[in-house]
Amino acid sequence: MSAAEPTEPTTRAATPTASTSPEVPSTEATPTDPGRPPSPAVGYRRTGRSGLLLPTISLGLWQNFGEDRPLATMRDIVTRAFELGITHFDLANNYGPPPGSAERHFGEILRTDFAGLRNRLVISTKAGYLMWDGPYGEWGSRKYLLSSLEESLARMGLDYVDIFYSHRFDPHTPLEETMGALASAVQQGKALYAGVSSYSSTATREAARLLRKMGTPCLIHQPSYSMLNRWIEGSLLNVLEDEGIGCIAFSPLAQGLLTSKYLNVTPTDIEGTLPDDARAAKDGSFRRGFLTEETLEKVHGLARIAKRRGQTLAQMALAWCLRDPRVTSVLIGASSVRQLEENVAALENLAFTQEELDEIDRFATDAGINIWRASSEAGGEPHDDRATAAERDER
Ligand code: NDP
Repeated sequence: MSAAEPTEPTTRAATPTASTSPEVPSTEATPTDPGRPPSPAVGYRRTGRSGLLLPTISLGLWQNFGEDRPLATMRDIVTRAFELGITHFDLANNYGPPPGSAERHFGEILRTDFAGLRNRLVISTKAGYLMWDGPYGEWGSRKYLLSSLEESLARMGLDYVDIFYSHRFDPHTPLEETMGALASAVQQGKALYAGVSSYSSTATREAARLLRKMGTPCLIHQPSYSMLNRWIEGSLLNVLEDEGIGCIAFSPLAQGLLTSKYLNVTPTDIEGTLPDDARAAKDGSFRRGFLTEETLEKVHGLARIAKRRGQTLAQMALAWCLRDPRVTSVLIGASSVRQLEENVAALENLAFTQEELDEIDRFATDAGINIWRASSEAGGEPHDDRATAAERDER
């Protein structure tokens, strides 16, 4: 497992339906590549008040793109994603395992399958978590961020990334220094836009102010968000809207928990009922301890609602995140082309009735699965008081 990606919860209801979303019809913004079929599947949304459109579903390479998978599987997933209209691929220095290998593998795919297509892709990377030993291998110093970006570019064989993120808030480095490093990356032409990930709403507001002063507006925030982890509804989404910053929600499937994969897991016999190929079987970022009776009851309740809508649980989970037009894109992972295709089909039904949303709210409550909360709490924002005892113990 690559270094942990280790993020908060709700007050203002975010219930607009797809009919109010600022999506661009896919016919107007579809990547057309001779030799590939046009992509009808994915529409595009504007990132905050910027000029950049992102696909409503983006693909992340945190897991499934390390040395533990054949390159052929990775290529199939990435090329199918592009065929479906997914133009945005999200990486970080430490994705693997081992750290760096996802960028290396993606670089290989860029050189082969995507040769000549750079201008049709939005590629992001990040620095913040542990990448190398010594005092300059993690957090938010200028020294670390800019050296890490050089290494990421070399691994992917790129001159620039589209978005460079501060991967987590660093409570010990002046925010001005961290934002200064992002602005320098943009001024040097090594990134087109700057972003932050898992920052509290207070830290985000300050980051936006600093970046604006430096002439490099903050394009986007990348927070965790799903039906079982709703911290961004508290105040972050309002701040993003005020500041004109986009929102790309990561782990919208709660690392797979909000799919059919765990529906047959029995909390009293996890070992005997957990599918071998499930992320939770590795007991890494998806801890087996997340599979409590209480959480599985929520998952089953949500699966029943999805079935009535004619969707799979995964599809409803993605559509639900996209119900709020301030969410620019949902950033998924996929370990197979089949999963990817199932997930993209979520876009066929994005509309929710108020009754459905109300019923979902009964089950879609905090499940104590937000392993990134340390970063989003570090910026000085009080945590939602629905934190579970397990979460409090962890801190
Ligand atoms: P998801 O919540 O989408 O989980 C993806 C996993 O769920 C897959 O790898 C697969 O796991 C399972 N899955 C997906 N679709 C299906 C399906 N239809 N049926 C059954 N199982 C399915 O997102 P991730 O947690 O993978 O995160 C997505 C991206 O977000 C990352 O790649 C990264 O780019 C970004 N991210 C950013 C972070 C940050 O700190 N900024 C932190 C974490 C993620 P399985 O192996 O079990 O098949």
